[in-house]
Amino acid sequence: MSPSPTAAPEHPLRAFVRGHAENRPGVYRMYGPGDELLYVGKSIRIRTRLLSYFRAEPGEKAFELVRESTRIQWDHIPDEFGALVREMRLIQQHRPRYNVQHKRKRSYGFVKITREPAPRVVPASTVIEDGATYYGPFPRVGQVSRTIRDLAHVLGIRDCPGATPMYFADQLDIFGADRAPLCIRAELASCPAPCAGAIDAAGYMERVREAARFLEGRSRLPLHLLQEEMTTAAARLDFEYAAAVRDRLERLRRLQQELTAFRGEVESLRFVYRAEGHGGRDRLHLIRGGRIRASFDDPRSTREWRAAARTSEAVFGAVEPGPAGLSAHEAAEILLVARWFRLNPEEIRRTTAPERWRTEAVVGDELPVRGAAASASRGKLATPSAPVAQGRSVPA
Ligand code: SF4
Repeated sequence: MSPSPTAAPEHPLRAFVRGHAENRPGVYRMYGPGDELLYVGKSIRIRTRLLSYFRAEPGEKAFELVRESTRIQWDHIPDEFGALVREMRLIQQHRPRYNVQHKRKRSYGFVKITREPAPRVVPASTVIEDGATYYGPFPRVGQVSRTIRDLAHVLGIRDCPGATPMYFADQLDIFGADRAPLCIRAELASCPAPCAGAIDAAGYMERVREAARFLEGRSRLPLHLLQEEMTTAAARLDFEYAAAVRDRLERLRRLQQELTAFRGEVESLRFVYRAEGHGGRDRLHLIRGGRIRASFDDPRSTREWRAAARTSEAVFGAVEPGPAGLSAHEAAEILLVARWFRLNPEEIRRTTAPERWRTEAVVGDELPVRGAAASASRGKLATPSAPVAQGRSVPA
């Protein structure tokens, strides 16, 4: 039947989606004028999801998005978890306007050491690719804000706005001699005033490194300094001040304990996750330290099994450095993995300890014969016989 003469013409992007998209898991990208990436989304049914945008009413985000879009692209991804990871990586990389503006409020927070000539230690409620180093997450960033301020004060790290001009003592600056500190913290001796040439760059950076060591659980210097301060205050009978210092000491101690506990939880996220893939072929994700280190289709041939065993050895056998801060990308990935298993607890049954998975993969020198029997045995793997992550708390 030919269209009614009064019917509105079909949106060209809708026709494109109808003609090409399939109902499979994937990630889609919507571009606007100038090829600006406006939005990245994922769905287990790409076609249905994309077509739903064209039914949006004025005032809805989807309506605005379609109105601005000039191009839509998508990639089919074998499994939902893989699509989620890909979506997160694209958002991290491009920060599309609609993803950022319509982001739900997060309930977690991080401590962040900024990447600036005179770095700061600040609370952060989101992770962005700005070269900073992140520590956490904590359930609520508001709870650690005061503790972070305590840390900056005890170690002598600035907490003024990032745009404050800095002049280190070893910096060539003809006006340097006349500069006065820009806030009272210099007078209170809680900041060495890198804004006024009162400390050289190396001296300041050593303080920042000390903060990093503390957040990594490798230094207790801030605790010792506060302990000394408390003892001195008590000795001069200033009990009120001594009590205030004691409270700061307790807060910092708790912060370090929480970070250590969090690291333990993250390290326990170490397994092979067999996600259900589109078309009946599972997808394997190798997860170590809460991050996805490798993903591949369930091996079927001997050659594929050999490659999978080599990848597994490289991922789980490699020696990793001790505790360290996280890049924005790593932090976001840990949160994603933790959130996935928290929202889909039944998926934990599809995880296997790497050692056990490798044993099944390689029997002596022989690689397994994979076929119907093997598939059946893998079906058993999905039972809770050895779910490595089961019972563990995943970071919220
Ligand atoms: S003394 Fe200068 S560097 Fe330190 S916090 Fe104040 S303004 Fe910033």
